Amino acid sequence: VTLFATNAHSKNLKVVCKIEDDVPNFVRGDPTRIRQILTNLTGNAIKFTSEGEVCVSLALVEHKDNLVVINFKVRDTGIGISQEGLSHIFESFAQADGSTTRVFGGTGLGLAICKQLVELMGGQLDVESQLGKGSCFSFNIVFEESVSSFKETQPILLTKPDKAVDEVISSSLVKPSRILIVEDNKINQQVAKGMIMQYGFEIELVNNGQEAIEILSNESFDLIFMDCQMPVMDGYEATRIIKMQKLISENVPIVAMTANAMAGDKEKCLEAGMDDYIAKPLKLSELLSCLSHWLNGADQIKIDKK
Ligand code: ADP
Repeated sequence: VTLFATNAHSKNLKVVCKIEDDVPNFVRGDPTRIRQILTNLTGNAIKFTSEGEVCVSLALVEHKDNLVVINFKVRDTGIGISQEGLSHIFESFAQADGSTTRVFGGTGLGLAICKQLVELMGGQLDVESQLGKGSCFSFNIVFEESVSSFKETQPILLTKPDKAVDEVISSSLVKPSRILIVEDNKINQQVAKGMIMQYGFEIELVNNGQEAIEILSNESFDLIFMDCQMPVMDGYEATRIIKMQKLISENVPIVAMTANAMAGDKEKCLEAGMDDYIAKPLKLSELLSCLSHWLNGADQIKIDKK
C-alpha cells in the first residue's frame, strides 16, 4: 500500500489498509509471493479506479490448532468488469475490454499469474464486480501459526523506509533526476517504480534492452537500472551497445538489477560496462543508498556491497 500511495494520491484516490485485530501478527508463509499477488491486485485496483477508494483488507477466517486461515481482499470503486469480461478474466492475455487496454495499458498476464500463485498456496482467487461500481478480488490462504522472536508485536505490512536514509536522500538531491528502468517483468517494474517515484524522481519504464537503446537514442537520463536477463535483448548486450555507441554521457551510471547472487555475476556486469549492481528483490534502503551514491552525496552513505 505504501508503494502505491503516491500514485493513488496523484489521482485523488483514498487508499486504505485494514487488518482486523484478530489477524495474528506472525504466520509462516511465502511473503514474496503474497506481496506479488497483493501488488498486482492493488496496482490494478488503482489503475482501473478514477474516483473513490481502494481498500486492501485482511481478516481472520479460522484459527484452529496451529493453522490460521486469512482472507485477503482488494476492493475498489472503479470501472468494474462486465459479466462477459468476468468469464475469462483469469485467462492469460485476457483484458476485459479492448478499449480499456488502449486507455490503461497492461499485458493481461497479472491476474493469470495471481490465480496460479494463489492456487499453489492452496487457495482460490475470486472476483465479484459490477460494471461502473467497482470490483473486489479476494482469496484465502492457510498459514501455519508462527511464534515471533520479537518481544512486542510490530506492524509487518507497512514497512517505513529507514528514516535516516530517507532524510539524507531527500536533502542531497536538488533537482528531480530522470531514471530509466529497463525490466521485462511487470511486477518488478511496478515495485521499482513505486519505490523510486515517492522520492520525486521522474521514471521511464521500458521492457528490454532493445527498447532501452531506442529511448536512449532520443532522450537523456541521469541513471539507468538495467535488468540482466530479458527477452529480445538482455542487459549485458544492451549495456555494451549503449557504451559503444556512446548513447549516454560518461557520468551516467548503469546499475544492474540482478536476481542471481552467484559469484562471478558482479564481474559479468562490470565486464559488460555496468557501473554497479543491486540485488533483486529490491530493498528500499539499498535502493536509496544506490541513488544517493550515484546521483549526489556519494560520501554521505556507505554502501555495504560484499
Ligand atoms: P493487465 O492489467 O496487465 O491488463 P491483468 O491480468 O492484471 O492484466 O488484468 C486483466 C484485465 O482485467 C485488465 O486488463 C482489466 O480489463 C481487468 N481488470 C483487472 N483488475 C481490474 C479492476 N480492479 N477493475 C476493473 N478491471 C480490472
